[in-house]
Amino acid sequence: NFVKIFLFFIRYLKNYKLKAGLMLISGTLSGPIWLLNGLIFKILLDDAVLATDLPIAERMHIFYLCLGAIVVWYLLYIMVKEVIPGLVGWYLHIRVALDLTRNMYLHEMKMELEFHHKRAIGEHMYRTAEDAFSGDMTDIMQDGTVISLITEDWMQFLAVISQFIVAVLLFWKVDPIVGIFVGCYLVVKIPAVHMATTWGNRIELEWREVNQERFAVERDIIAGLKTHKSLGTIGRAFRRYVLMLRENQEMFFKLVTIKFWFLNNFLLKFILGTLMWERVIKIYVLVGIMRGTMTFGDMVLVQILASQLQAPISKFIDMVQKFRKSMVPASRMYETMSLHPNIKDKAFAPRFGSLSGRIAFDNVSFGYSGGPIILNNVDFDIKPGERIAFVGPSGAGKSTIFKLLLRLYEPATGRILVDGKSLADHRIKSYLNQIGVVMQQTHIFSGSILENIRFGDMYASEKEVRWAVEQAELSEMVEESPAGLETFLGEGTKLSGGQKQRIGIARALIRKPKMFIMDEPTAHVDVIVETQLLHTIEKVTRGTTTLIISHRITPILFVDKLVVLTPGGVEAVGTHDELLKISPTYQVLWEQQRRESGK
Ligand code: ATP
Repeated sequence: NFVKIFLFFIRYLKNYKLKAGLMLISGTLSGPIWLLNGLIFKILLDDAVLATDLPIAERMHIFYLCLGAIVVWYLLYIMVKEVIPGLVGWYLHIRVALDLTRNMYLHEMKMELEFHHKRAIGEHMYRTAEDAFSGDMTDIMQDGTVISLITEDWMQFLAVISQFIVAVLLFWKVDPIVGIFVGCYLVVKIPAVHMATTWGNRIELEWREVNQERFAVERDIIAGLKTHKSLGTIGRAFRRYVLMLRENQEMFFKLVTIKFWFLNNFLLKFILGTLMWERVIKIYVLVGIMRGTMTFGDMVLVQILASQLQAPISKFIDMVQKFRKSMVPASRMYETMSLHPNIKDKAFAPRFGSLSGRIAFDNVSFGYSGGPIILNNVDFDIKPGERIAFVGPSGAGKSTIFKLLLRLYEPATGRILVDGKSLADHRIKSYLNQIGVVMQQTHIFSGSILENIRFGDMYASEKEVRWAVEQAELSEMVEESPAGLETFLGEGTKLSGGQKQRIGIARALIRKPKMFIMDEPTAHVDVIVETQLLHTIEKVTRGTTTLIISHRITPILFVDKLVVLTPGGVEAVGTHDELLKISPTYQVLWEQQRRESGK
């Protein structure tokens, strides 16, 4: 799985091959180049400064050559160690970060509704924002993120390995015994760091889960603030939030403690750190010099190697741990990105041409995943231009039929036919583009009235928008708004239920649809507004195929036919008078509503 996740994310570099290659080369060279430093100093000391048996002119010649080599070395080192990783590295980081979040977001948007229902909106937000970035934009250079996994970790791996190999070769040349110290050091350090990181990763994974829950709770409370305020439950909601925060804080403390004692400071710095390691090697070399088996040049070389050999070893271990840490958010992102939407266009699916508005359900059965059958062999045929109302007891599946019509879900068996062609076999966008939808509650996007109506057709001219406004009987409201069509609606909190629905009707009308789908457009308004709205709907839908759900029957009797839906399937289809004769369910519904309105 580790390899699969890594390969999945590493392909994000494929658009930046040249820059990634440059990073790779500079990363691989930076380690060995640093070690050359020691070699130059050894020559400087042994063959120039301390080579008293050579003539001074020759010694000075070697000395100047070494100085020249140091200057060249320095420039090269700065280039591979600082300039390239700095400039190119940042570029890669930013580009990959944005590619990654964009793809994650797009991927989530493509997933079907069922997937979204399984996760809270706050969790989605956390997964997109935090798992990819692990913080805000200024934090993206930090370790242990998916981005560092893609742009940094693996290159540093190579750098460290190349540095290690060159260091070992040089060490061997000077004195193999030091290798034994290295061995001892590794035997203790690797398992210690490995254990601490495993522990840390587990806590981090838990912490991310708690954090994502915090996001979900935060969003849930703010979204339901109106309800909380009106129920007087603000205190309870706040306590729920504080509990989440506290849990979050406790996890954080655990994480920091592990980091302090084991990962960053105590264990590594003071017990297995450079200080002790360097001292031991230094003493060994000093003894070598006193015995005459080593030179001063060897001492400088060993000292540089010792500090540098220690560096790739601990860096290598750090790298493995960093890699593992990056894998935590990476595996969470992979979890989402490796899912595939169940509902999508088939390859090379043809488009729908201009629709006539004929729609049919051909023996359609459906149940939500893991649930009982909701629609049982539903069969009906609607002719172009016909207006049909769906009625039936609550839970019979009326809205479910509309969800299938919008292909938010797909039938388990049977077919939905549009102009005689299977909906599932055609490009869904070419169908949706020709449909005007009004939902129970029109979602108002953050923007102006104009922008909100243009969600129906972003290319609609202002004249067309004004026409839709007039048809939806919104003109008065627009005129009274401070900036007319440009009036900012926020998230629509200042609009009445009826006004929202009229914006929804205008949004549907602007598309000049071939078919209207209206799922209880008057569900959230009072009886007076309902009558007014349905009057508008009756007017604008004339001559266009219209499918509408309504709880109340009287105001929608303008339709051509009604479909009576029961949990057993379609009980009857007909006009009001016909249904009163043939449909027992319709008789009950009608009787109920007559009694209620007579009250
Ligand atoms: P109402 O008149 O009350 O709006 P309806 O006839 O429109 O009812 P639907 O909303 O289609 O009924 O729901 C039919 C059944 O499907 C209900 O039992 C409902 O609980 C269930 N249901 C609806 N949406 C889902 C979902 N996303 N997952 C699982 N079950 C669902």
